[in-house]
Amino acid sequence: MKYIIGIDIGTTATKGVLYGEDGSKVAKLAISYPLIQEEAGQAEEDPQLIFDAVQKMIYQLSQKASGKILAISWSSQMHSLIGLGENNKLLTNSITWADNRSSDVVQRAKKSGWARMIYQQTGMPPHPMAPVYKLLWLKEEQPTLFAQVKKWISIKEYIIWRLTGKILTDTTMAAGSGMMNLKTLTWDEKILAQIGLDQAQLPTIADQQSTVGKIIPEYRAKLGLNDETQIVLGASDGYLSTIGVGVLDEKDFALNVGTSGAVRVIAPKAIVDQKNRFFCYPVDAKHYLLGGPVNNGGIVFDWARKTIFGPDETAEDVLNVAQTAPAGSNGLLFHPYLGGERAPIWNAQARGSFVGLTRNHTKPQMARSVLEGIVFNLLGASQGLLDQVGQPQALRVTGGFVQSDFVRQLIADIFNLPVIVIKNEQCGTLAAMFLAKTALEDKPDLEKIKKRTAESQVYFPNPQNVAIYQELILVYRKIEHELEASYEDLAQFQDKHPQKFE
Ligand code: ADP
Repeated sequence: MKYIIGIDIGTTATKGVLYGEDGSKVAKLAISYPLIQEEAGQAEEDPQLIFDAVQKMIYQLSQKASGKILAISWSSQMHSLIGLGENNKLLTNSITWADNRSSDVVQRAKKSGWARMIYQQTGMPPHPMAPVYKLLWLKEEQPTLFAQVKKWISIKEYIIWRLTGKILTDTTMAAGSGMMNLKTLTWDEKILAQIGLDQAQLPTIADQQSTVGKIIPEYRAKLGLNDETQIVLGASDGYLSTIGVGVLDEKDFALNVGTSGAVRVIAPKAIVDQKNRFFCYPVDAKHYLLGGPVNNGGIVFDWARKTIFGPDETAEDVLNVAQTAPAGSNGLLFHPYLGGERAPIWNAQARGSFVGLTRNHTKPQMARSVLEGIVFNLLGASQGLLDQVGQPQALRVTGGFVQSDFVRQLIADIFNLPVIVIKNEQCGTLAAMFLAKTALEDKPDLEKIKKRTAESQVYFPNPQNVAIYQELILVYRKIEHELEASYEDLAQFQDKHPQKFE
């Protein structure tokens, strides 16, 4: 048998899966690396360390396949930025999506109307995660470095360049830069001119299913591969994790909630929102990935577990307690903006809150309202999509936060939609493998991916709970709106009086 490797270049780790030619899963591996956070707002990674992790992964997986690897394909974190100088020398680390040092640039762009233009042209909502804002920030903060950079790329291009000697990006990754025009699917000249960049400083954009070429001899030998291994371009993790759960059109929405969360759907045309509520990233001229990423998923549940309950309590303990409170937590509301928020409010200065506390509220209501608040926020992140794309048939859910019956039912009740649980836990690498298969075959057919997305269970909304949540959500939104005016003041106070950690 021959094999295909699917590699997911994540923010905290690289995950790789070895698949048989028939699509069967043979082995998997994960290798983590550190985030560099030496100053406020910084979140960088060392590209060389990530390349080392990728090499180790390819070597170990190819050993299990006796080197008979037909193709290696990629799923990648989005929005990273790396500057290469003369002879492609690394001049920066990989500045990740989590780096928010360009917040001021974004604020100014919002005020000047430039952020709105970028959103309309590229589908990228105003947020420091986007390379377009990071570039403007670097130009202001480090003009000498900015002038030295010959090529700006992301982590996927870096890895593929090291292996093949070619610098190519794909549409889904280019879309995440905030510099690719939605209509032409090419770099937007007006935006580049505003930053002071030339097209030649950015990678050529190609199709996700393109084969980039073979691995250069130096690495082929080192990684134990023969000369038939093709490198397939691959795509963004956002796109691949969406098609990887069987969402290939607008019939269903994909909802992933792990540490953070995202709701996504594939639409047949580009749609941008008057209120900037969701991103619109082209896949090709007929498919557009629309969605809302939220910062506050399981990470907030984890905070509540440790802070309200105690570090020794398990997630299951907290869920058991939460279930003893009624739907709606007796009117106790929780806004989960502990880490600022992207969709739906796109406000890095947003802060969390319990609202509506009375002396009768105890731990069960607090626990349940935290869970309800996280899901209300996910519904908020979906609202723009629901308004513009329409009501889906179901939500296809994945991630660490949705592993209990209780949370799955909560999502069904709050969204008022059937919730389908997807078994495959490696949706990104599975879809990357499918890209490789379509690249190698004569008749590419991504639809086949649906056969591989095993549905394990379906949860239907409970009408009584739906009624309670529909009433409460209106109050939640009203308060969210009212609190917004104070977020900046609170964030400024917190910046002036930072907490000291031992
Ligand atoms: P990542 O997004 O980092 O890949 P996972 O999908 O593994 O993360 O999910 C991790 C998150 O899941 C953690 O933030 C944790 O709080 C949350 N989590 C773990 N167990 C449970 C549970 N039983 N119920 C709800 N959330 C949980």
